[in-house]
This record gives sequence, C-alpha cells and structure tokens, in this order.
Amino acid sequence: MAVKVGKNVKHIKVGDRVGVGAQSGSCLDCGECTSGQENYCSKGMVGTYNGKYPDGSKSYGEYSDYCRAPAHFAVKIPDSLLLAEAAPMLCGGVTTWNPLVKNGAGPGKKVGIVGVGGLGDFGILWAKALGCDEGAMKYIATEEGGWNRKNARSLDLIVSTVSSPNMPLAQYFQLLRTNGQFIQVSNCTTRKETSTNPSSTRSPRR
Ligand SMILES: [Zn+2]
Repeated sequence: MAVKVGKNVKHIKVGDRVGVGAQSGSCLDCGECTSGQENYCSKGMVGTYNGKYPDGSKSYGEYSDYCRAPAHFAVKIPDSLLLAEAAPMLCGGVTTWNPLVKNGAGPGKKVGIVGVGGLGDFGILWAKALGCDEGAMKYIATEEGGWNRKNARSLDLIVSTVSSPNMPLAQYFQLLRTNGQFIQVSNCTTRKETSTNPSSTRSPRR
C-alpha cells in the first residue's frame, strides 16, 4: 500500500496497492535505461533486496516494513488481482513476460517454453494470454528419444527458463523455424562459477 507519494508521481496515489519488482533503481540516463532496458543499467543498478541505494543505504526487499523506491519502479496493482497472485508476477512473471512481448509473441507465432514448474509456468500462461499458436500448448518430453527430430522446425520463438549448463542446446535450436529466436532468461553458469561470482545471482531477472 502506498503510504507516501512524491508530488511529481502521476500513476500512483496514497492508498493504492503497489508492487516493486526485483529492481528498485537505475540511473535512468544511460542507453539501456532510456530504451526501456533498465535491468541492464551498468551505472546505477539497485536490487530490491541485497542492494545498495546511491546514498549507501541497503535494500531489504520483503524483509523490510516499508520500501522507499522511485515511482519509476513501482507499479499499481489492479484491484481485481489478489496480492498473493500479483507478488510472483513482479519477479518470475516479468522475467518471462518481457522476452515474450519483446520478441513478438502473439497470434500467428508458435512459441515454446523450456522448463515447466517455475518460470516456465508463467511463460505458458502469458503465451496463451497473448494468443500465441498452439506451440506452447503442446508438451514435448525431452526424455523421449527423437523429440528434436519429431518437432523440428516447429517454433518461431523459444524462451528457455532452464538453468542447467548441460541442457541440449543444439537440439532446442533444431525446433526453430528459419529465423526463429531462442531466448535464455536464466543463469547458465555452473554451481562452481556461481559461487565465485555472487553478482551473477543478484541481478534481477526480467
Ligand atoms: Zn542506466
């Protein structure tokens, strides 16, 4: 719930239900920020949890009683949406929504989502809501031999939510039609690499 709103904020008023995703700050000035890709900002990235604001104070995410964030990173939650449903949309939801919309998911596009049971569930919901063709409505079991040949050249866009460095990338590519796109949204480093590079696990997925 918004308890205080800056005088220049137009899209939120006191009393509104609001949400802040995994990012709550960026420079808003660099090439990435001005092209709507604030999550790639290299100058002033502030994570909502385990982050640091420009004044040096820390961000505590959902462990804090209150969150003070630039309105640019706060969204009004529609009244019809339960807060419990809205909360995961601010992280896993936007992580899968963005690559679908940015890459033209919609009627006439056959979309595949790799990985079900986490981010992928949102990917399937969005693909359906966006009116994509039946690609996302068909389940391909990759444990079964020949799945890549059987479904070769059947998809325009694949969004992969799997983070295993051992995923069968070459076979996934075979599922793409000519000029198809494969978008990877999760971190593919090995456990060892992740542990020596903590920053790679901190950046919000969007
Ligand atoms: Zn920036």
